[in-house]
Amino acid sequence: MASSWKHYPKTGNITGIVTVDGPAGSGKSTVSRLLAGKIGYSYLDTGATYRAVALAASRRGVDPLDTSGLKTLCGSLDLAFDRDQDPPAVLLDGEDVSDLIRTPGMDMLSSRVSAVSEVRRAMIALQRRIARGGGFVAEGRDMGTVVFPEADFKFFLTASAGTRAERRYRELMLRGESVDRQVVEMELKQRDDQDSLRARSPLKPAHDATIIDSTTLTVEEVVDLMLRRMDGS
Ligand code: C5P
Repeated sequence: MASSWKHYPKTGNITGIVTVDGPAGSGKSTVSRLLAGKIGYSYLDTGATYRAVALAASRRGVDPLDTSGLKTLCGSLDLAFDRDQDPPAVLLDGEDVSDLIRTPGMDMLSSRVSAVSEVRRAMIALQRRIARGGGFVAEGRDMGTVVFPEADFKFFLTASAGTRAERRYRELMLRGESVDRQVVEMELKQRDDQDSLRARSPLKPAHDATIIDSTTLTVEEVVDLMLRRMDGS
């Protein structure tokens, strides 16, 4: 494939980055992993970093409103990705917490702690450290706007509220969670509002992002669209 992304311009601090932002249930994770595999990049799930903070806070009894407690917590957090696993496992103090951080309770708690400036500062530094060598598809809410403003390609993935709730519901059912479809939709909306309305790093497309509505598209179709965009067609 004659791909312009293979010869990415070295204009920013960190190059070789593709960003994928969007609301919950827009398909970011699946699409980002597939895209990363196709272009030979690694996949960085930044939501997992906020989820790990949420889990650590609940384990250590730190209230999501206790900003100084959260700052101390982030300072002592031993958080890493095990890239030998696919998808990369999330390690908190050496323990694989990949499943524990993806419960509905952690959905809401991660959204709450992620609004705290001290938490964002620590996680953004960690995310940049992980990606400093380039060659990453970074997925989250503020990848193109705040964390990697110099990214080579930026995408913002969206889908109708109903479609996103349905995807999230199916995902939770597959994980064996017993959840109510209406509660999933309500919590998704609450989380989106929280993520979009917060003062720091709100969820929004970067001015130079390509917006893709995945409501009626398959994962493969979305990735094809991205690859075509990256190839300049
Ligand atoms: O993407 P995921 O649903 O796993 O993210 C969990 C939560 O982490 C989001 O609801 C959002 O509040 C927060 N988040 C964030 N910035 C990111 C990624 C996730 O604030 N870059």
